[in-house]
Amino acid sequence: MQDNLLFSRRTFARAVGAGAILAAVPKLALAATPQSDVRLNANENPYGPSPAGMRAMTDALRTVPRYPDDLSEALRSDVAHLHGVNPNQVILGDGSSDILRLAAAAYTGPGKKMIVPDPTFESIALHAATCGAEVTKVPLTAAYTHDLDKMTDGALVYVCNPNNPTATITPKAALRAYLDSLPRTTTVLVDEAYHHYVTSPDYESVIPLVATHPNLIVARTFSKIYAMAGLRAGYAIAQPEAIERLRAQQQFDAMNVVALAGARASLADTDHALLARKRNSDTKVWLAGELRKSGYEMLPSEANFVMIQLKGEVKPLIAQMRMKGVHVGRLFPAMPRSMRVTIGTPEEMQRFVDAFRTVIST
Ligand code: PLP
Repeated sequence: MQDNLLFSRRTFARAVGAGAILAAVPKLALAATPQSDVRLNANENPYGPSPAGMRAMTDALRTVPRYPDDLSEALRSDVAHLHGVNPNQVILGDGSSDILRLAAAAYTGPGKKMIVPDPTFESIALHAATCGAEVTKVPLTAAYTHDLDKMTDGALVYVCNPNNPTATITPKAALRAYLDSLPRTTTVLVDEAYHHYVTSPDYESVIPLVATHPNLIVARTFSKIYAMAGLRAGYAIAQPEAIERLRAQQQFDAMNVVALAGARASLADTDHALLARKRNSDTKVWLAGELRKSGYEMLPSEANFVMIQLKGEVKPLIAQMRMKGVHVGRLFPAMPRSMRVTIGTPEEMQRFVDAFRTVIST
């Protein structure tokens, strides 16, 4: 599948060696300047979208008088081609948050149970609660994987792989066995927002399993590796009946023309995505070394953020870091002694390390 080819060893090596690409990456407003605050709190990609994506978005401004139908069909077709599925197995969303909301609306409600790991990205559970569902939180295992054996009896189950905020993965064999074991009456939404950052051989995307699992929905986003968080673009892959059930909850024309054009061009620019992955990985290795020098460890990270294990409560540190102009992730009540930090540029991470060393020594 092209999606896997995107990160084959061969293409990765080619991208890593491509100094010309590095030079072509535009300096974005997002990158920190010494005067500005450093935002390491939302798992954004500090390097910005593909230059081809930027051009496509600028060009798309000319088309704003028109509704987005044609472009919408074109992106659905691109996504279908990428994953080797039919376009009727793709739904586009106004960010993958939109997909999560649609799933909660379509599959939960009063008298129905939604199961989520804890901690995780909270949005789908909040939507399910709004729909009147009972939400059950299942703590992660000691290895910070999903405790899948305890996530079996809901109408809808959320699996976040890699998981936000821990950046850990649930291994592929366990996830496969789990999907095979579930009754068809339980729908599983696997959120693969951070898919492109994973390097572990123990991980796989479950998109190929959609063919054999009518109760599986897989969500992806353009907000992370494609650096389009502000535009709002995402999608889901599932069997046609599940896609129709999601669509019944959605407004018409959920994605705008600028986001659609940027998403199409970004999907095609695989080298740019590879470069973002390589930079993230290099900076993460550097950060782990710096933290170790100060006596701190982080959980094994398979994403564009890390979970640092503290020696005390995170809450006061979040505030102290902010006073120093460094914004780090929020409190996750299930892990009050851990700090989630997005991997920014090397300059941003140097500022993080300097501020972190100051606040832990005061
Ligand atoms: N899923 C996970 C696991 C996330 O961490 C996030 C955002 O951080 C989202 C979904 C939402 O992404 P989007 O910007 O596509 O709505």
